[in-house]
Amino acid sequence: MRPPVLNPLFRPVSSLAGIGPKLAVTLRKLLGGPDPDGEPRAIDLLFHLPVAVIDRSRQPGIALSPEGAIVTLKVRIDRHQKPPRGNRRIPYRVFVHDDTGELALTFFHANEPWLERMLPIGETRYVSGRMEWFNGRPSMVHPDHMVSEADFGDLPLIEPVYPMTAGLARKTLLKAVGDALDGLPDLPEWLDSSVVAEHHWTTFGAALRAAHHPTAVADIEPHSPALARLAYDELLASQLALALMRAHQRRSAGKARKGDGGLRAKILDALPFTLTGSQQTALAEIDADLAQPERMLRLLQGDVGSGKTVVALLSAATTIEAGAQAAIMAPTELLVRQHARTIAPLAEVAGIRLAVLTGRERARDRAEVVAGLADGSIDLLVGTHALFQSGVEFRDLGLVVVDEQHRFGVHQRLALTAKGEATDVLVMTATPIPRTLVLTYYGDMDVSRLTEKPAGRRPIETRAIPLTRLDEVVERVRAATVDGAKAYWVCPLVEESEVLDVAAVEERYATLTAALGGGIGLVHGRMSAADRDVEMAKFVSGESKVLVATTVVEVGVDVSDATIMVIEHAERFGLAQLHQLRGRVGRSDRPSVCLLLYKGPLGPVATDRLRIMRESEDGFVIAEEDLRLRGGGEVLGTRQSGTPGFRIADLDHHADLMEAARDDARLIVDQDANLGSERGAALRLLLYVFGRDDAVRLLRAG
Ligand code: ADP
Ligand code: MG
Repeated sequence: MRPPVLNPLFRPVSSLAGIGPKLAVTLRKLLGGPDPDGEPRAIDLLFHLPVAVIDRSRQPGIALSPEGAIVTLKVRIDRHQKPPRGNRRIPYRVFVHDDTGELALTFFHANEPWLERMLPIGETRYVSGRMEWFNGRPSMVHPDHMVSEADFGDLPLIEPVYPMTAGLARKTLLKAVGDALDGLPDLPEWLDSSVVAEHHWTTFGAALRAAHHPTAVADIEPHSPALARLAYDELLASQLALALMRAHQRRSAGKARKGDGGLRAKILDALPFTLTGSQQTALAEIDADLAQPERMLRLLQGDVGSGKTVVALLSAATTIEAGAQAAIMAPTELLVRQHARTIAPLAEVAGIRLAVLTGRERARDRAEVVAGLADGSIDLLVGTHALFQSGVEFRDLGLVVVDEQHRFGVHQRLALTAKGEATDVLVMTATPIPRTLVLTYYGDMDVSRLTEKPAGRRPIETRAIPLTRLDEVVERVRAATVDGAKAYWVCPLVEESEVLDVAAVEERYATLTAALGGGIGLVHGRMSAADRDVEMAKFVSGESKVLVATTVVEVGVDVSDATIMVIEHAERFGLAQLHQLRGRVGRSDRPSVCLLLYKGPLGPVATDRLRIMRESEDGFVIAEEDLRLRGGGEVLGTRQSGTPGFRIADLDHHADLMEAARDDARLIVDQDANLGSERGAALRLLLYVFGRDDAVRLLRAG
């Protein structure tokens, strides 16, 4: 139960001044919150921080105010010039002056009585707004502020700018924020006093107030004391939650599982290749974990094409040899099908009883699988993440492999596996994540890395070609497919609109069909999963030679004899995405090419990206470059600003705080694993404030 002292932070926004139920709905999109359908809470509003400030401190005088500048002017009101009756297109003008010159305050669709009240002739007023010069005459259209001399103190010389949304007035937002800040409870300090002193931080409440009331541009910079403090709080909450889950997982005894190697040997025998050195090393590390009586929590990191699936299968084999069951979870149905296709023949050879659950099975089939999992007659389940969460029971689940690709949701999944079964966890990720991000998303997980590519792989020839040479590229693809090659043709995201995406792929599908005379497949996000499967199967079998696709092929599709990847409008993709896409080819001993079709002129960042793609195939190098070019958020393939999963912390700026928070969290858990001390009680509040309730639930009441 959340301590009542936090209630003011968790009341619905509609209870705040100026926010009614309708506005609460508008705010949902802007503020988010844990429940996508529920109403945001006061805390969500409080964490909605200004992203910029308007500086109104310049008071140069009328004549010296530059065009376009935001200025504050002390003026005397001379006369009102009303528009002719009935002509609403001519503005209402109020002429004013100071020592340096005359200025017209300009109002369209004016409320005349209001203007007469606000700007009485002969009086002095402070006005603030943007200066516009037209034919040598200055004007200010709709000043942002107009106050009397006595009220000058109310004019915000530094004004916070918030991300806004249609239907929300600035004043309404400010009022609600003010109300939420007024209701802020006094909370005990959860940070170590030496850390607070070292950074000259204030309390959490004071930092929140300061963040909403910047007094200088420096106050909205990530390193300002207020923002740094809040970012640290957020990072500590995240790291503490991960550390607590891990400690819990360690405490709840796992089982030592040792296989006899029988199943694994059969699979290895059936594989048409031998394992790479790093696959063997990773398996040895995993085997050692499985053999321990503690639970495994390991991240298997490997570039696209490095062969993670087979490591997952062989780990599952060991678990099954030891008499338990295993599950491999993937983020999409497409991937589940693909894993199942890869695994099924090998499972059959080894005598592993395999089942698949994607949510599309007929009820009767599903019931059969569910029963088989419960009575242990199924050894290995391949399924989607979602299904796994929806209460499927196993007789004895020994190992869960989570194929994350590059989506992150590990907090929830750790919570899931922390439910108390003695289940080992292996998380696989294809994105070569820099160290700080591993820490951020996974905490102190053990990490195995697949650093080599399977033997016999040839480098992929990568070329950047302007779209004006499309015809040549089509011809090259045509000639290659006549020789038996298979090609992917990826069309870009058109401004995040799925409808337009589909139009783009359908158009390309039509031109290629015309040019090649058939044998073309098509997959996109709007097709049913079943149709997509059919198209994929045709491409796998070679019935279609070219697969035109949106980025659905990005997530881990494996058709090893495809050797051509055409990426249209490559300039619109991020580096990480280009790298993932290119990784779909170069999966055999045949030479592969990646053609990056771009539309010029290219900006400097796009130029850099295409250059890096031509120069490197190393996922780690590319990830680092990506981080350099575009900031941490983009490495993960998302387009959020800042760091996904965080509201305040931004790892581009707060990486040092991240490391400190990790160390702090570790220390806390070492000393007070149940958060039973006085500081521990305060830290429980911190976890609630940042929505890490899952972690608190693992603690004994206290
Ligand atoms: P990813 O790590 O991207 O998930 P996959 O597991 O899909 O990679 O493997 C990519 C391809 O490489 C698959 O076709 C797989 O069969 C093949 N593969 C995996 N390990 C080896 C190996 N040691 N030697 C040759 N090919 C391998
Ligand atoms: Mg994969």
